[in-house]
Amino acid sequence: EQKEVLPEKDSEQEIHLLKQLEIEQERITSVQETRKVLPVYGYRKELLEAIKEHQTLIIVGETGSGKTTQLPQYLVEDGYTQGGKFRIAVTQPRRVAATAVAARVADEMDVVLGKEVGYSIRFEDKTMADRTILKYMTDGMLLREFLVDPELQKYSCIMIDEAHERTLATDILLGLLKDILPHRKDLKLLISSATMNATKFSRFFNNCPIFNVPGRRFPVDIHYTVQPEANYLHAVISTVFQIHTKEPVPGDILVFLTGQDEIENIAEKMEMIAGKLGEKAMPLIITPIYANLPQDQQNRIFIPTPPSCRKVVLATNIAETSLTVEGIKYVVDPGYVKENSFVPSTGMTQLLTVPCSRASVDQRAGRAGRVGPGKCYRIFTKWSYYNELELMPRPEIVRTNLSSVVLLLLSLGITNLVNFQLLDKPSVSSLSKSLENLYLLGALNSKGTITKLGRIMCEFPCEPEFAKVLHTAATHEMCHGVLEECIDIVAMLHETKSLFMGSKNQNPGLRIIGQTDSDHMLYWEIYDEWRNSNYSKMWCQDHKLQYKTLCRVRNIRDQLLQCADKLGLAALNESARRELVDKQSGSALTARITKCFISGFPMNIAQLGINSYRTVGKKSTSGLDVYIHPSSVVFQSKRDGKKPCKFVLYQQLMLTSKEFIRDCLPIIKESWLEEMVPQLFRSR
Ligand code: ADP
Ligand code: MG
Repeated sequence: EQKEVLPEKDSEQEIHLLKQLEIEQERITSVQETRKVLPVYGYRKELLEAIKEHQTLIIVGETGSGKTTQLPQYLVEDGYTQGGKFRIAVTQPRRVAATAVAARVADEMDVVLGKEVGYSIRFEDKTMADRTILKYMTDGMLLREFLVDPELQKYSCIMIDEAHERTLATDILLGLLKDILPHRKDLKLLISSATMNATKFSRFFNNCPIFNVPGRRFPVDIHYTVQPEANYLHAVISTVFQIHTKEPVPGDILVFLTGQDEIENIAEKMEMIAGKLGEKAMPLIITPIYANLPQDQQNRIFIPTPPSCRKVVLATNIAETSLTVEGIKYVVDPGYVKENSFVPSTGMTQLLTVPCSRASVDQRAGRAGRVGPGKCYRIFTKWSYYNELELMPRPEIVRTNLSSVVLLLLSLGITNLVNFQLLDKPSVSSLSKSLENLYLLGALNSKGTITKLGRIMCEFPCEPEFAKVLHTAATHEMCHGVLEECIDIVAMLHETKSLFMGSKNQNPGLRIIGQTDSDHMLYWEIYDEWRNSNYSKMWCQDHKLQYKTLCRVRNIRDQLLQCADKLGLAALNESARRELVDKQSGSALTARITKCFISGFPMNIAQLGINSYRTVGKKSTSGLDVYIHPSSVVFQSKRDGKKPCKFVLYQQLMLTSKEFIRDCLPIIKESWLEEMVPQLFRSR
């Protein structure tokens, strides 16, 4: 008879360890089991065969079937990285998707994120050059890799994921890849897409095969509103609570909203209502997801909902196809999306909230039918669905500012832009507008050839306009010596959306920080004060600023500075700085910084009219009436009775109830315009 050996007391620790190991083992087993139930798993062998046989393959499958997380692992398992000799790249249109999916895949492969599996998004590289074999990245980052490695020699497979989204970077990538495929016979290209557009991709790649992964999808009941809703946010909230109080659990809710502001606003109201309901309803777990949300909070959407609770996910259209949340049974969809829209005649980009396409709202509805039959509540009418919505979303390339990609293509030696093959061609007017803009910035000469300055601008990991600001700050004899200040401001401008806790115009911390008359200088003072506090977390809390956002700003700032250093600009700036006699004076500093921004954003200038500003650009084009956004410091100084400046530079133009300009910098002396951009402002 075997006697059970009782553990001795001092090995308790060991038992604890063993138990942990066991839990970990169980977790890994369950992860491996989950992998096997995904629809793509049934097609693993066929897929790998098709990939072996064809250089380019389109893969179409229902969202959540495992394309993004599984296919790249199959490629690794099938030896495409040749023991670390080659890499596999998977592109994503969105940053959040790239990071979340990389984390998930690292977990599934049981490796540390940032080693074998990593991600690369702008300003954040979590990969190891000699170790990472599977690299998730934004499409924009792969585009930048062409600059250093024009034939992508390090890669054996490229997967262009979410290709149906048709972002500008994805479209350009497809064009470039089409170019290099004949020279890189060993390179495999996978294009994965939700069901829309697949044949278009196939035609573009010489009728390459389309591999269809059948998914499961349960029926989804669609409900419309009877009449158009005047206030869709209000309707969203009442619909969510209708569902929450009337429908059984389990069954989580997914709400599609347009952006961070809307999501935060609704989350706050829902928390309040849920609080008031108290014991009368089940607990409601409210989880937002949008690009600027801190990582740890993003992961909350993936935590399984406990029994007798309901989760409501408030998402941007990131949840349309890029991320799949398990357990969603109800979708609430107002049918809007935020889109960039470039108007070539004025040269301006606006951020607009526009109705989604039918393809998008159908895709959204489908999210309710993954675990079982679901319901989708559309906050618009059936009539509107059939008569007002476009069939397909418009690809970004036909509606966005092309300056940075045009510059990139030129620097890659693709000079015949009109003949460069693309899925959809941008309009000639928007192409010529961007060429004109690049010429105005000095990135191109009058023959349309890229200049030395243009190449420098390409090196910076930011828009050419910002790069120009930094270049001017280091080199222009009228305003150099302010490179570091400009870098601080440029870095801050990348992150202003999530800088303040609560809304900016109610921020009590602001008044303490400074008495400045421009948003740019306010941002600079905030960053400078934070630096002086030795990057303190407490200081942020005291001033109602998001610590994490400032940490990101610091990271961006360091990278811009590094880049400026590498290009020799930092050294030039240093010598200019030494000669500066007026570096102590605040107004002299402001003058220099303002001039640098004028040189980078000559198209973003508005002139004071009777009761609004009016944009000025080329003399031939008539301007647009714009209003200073209430969140701007400039708006507040006007309210405080200060005399407004005749000219103001702005970073953002947005259309909500009116045309608002945000992040504004008053131009104190009109003569600065001519001084910095004589081509445009001579003798106005
Ligand atoms: P597809 O790309 O075809 O839409 P994915 O590969 O993204 O599908 O997703 C496959 C499965 O992995 C889904 O069931 C999804 O819920 C799950 N999944 C993906 N990312 C995560 C994550 N970060 N945490 C938990 N589950 C995840
Ligand atoms: Mg996917």
